[in-house]
Amino acid sequence: MPPPRVFSCVRHDDTLVLSGAIADTAGLVGLVKQASGGKLVLDLHGITFINSLGVRDWVHMQSAAAKAGVRLILRRVSEPLIHQLNIVPAARAASDIESFYAGYMCEHCGEEHSMLLDTETHRPQLEIMQPPSLSCPSCTKGLTFIDPAELYFSFVAGTSPLR
Ligand SMILES: [Zn+2]
Repeated sequence: MPPPRVFSCVRHDDTLVLSGAIADTAGLVGLVKQASGGKLVLDLHGITFINSLGVRDWVHMQSAAAKAGVRLILRRVSEPLIHQLNIVPAARAASDIESFYAGYMCEHCGEEHSMLLDTETHRPQLEIMQPPSLSCPSCTKGLTFIDPAELYFSFVAGTSPLR
């Protein structure tokens, strides 16, 4: 079943689980009020799409968080969102990206797998733009990283592929 396109935000304990499409109506800035102890945890695995108005709203949320002294902890960030965080450094200004998805291909099975990577665990490799070596969940053979690594991991090194 494909994830829903309509934006939703559900609270689970100390985490806000965002899913669907981020457009101008998501109202992200208001979420900063839900921070406690100077941080707000966002689970983003269900974000399927973000448009330019959504990116603008997202950047405003970063500014609001910085102003309020809140750190945004981003967990399980989806691939569409990682692409935007790479292109727009202001979109990660007040954020720590704890874990994120990356696209890998199994040439043996002929299938694509979206794999969850932990930023701290893989940091030494990610900082030199090396995709972590992972095994196919189906056949355990080695997976091939799909995106250009020097673009996809630029958020880890704090750089932008457009500079
Ligand atoms: Zn396989």
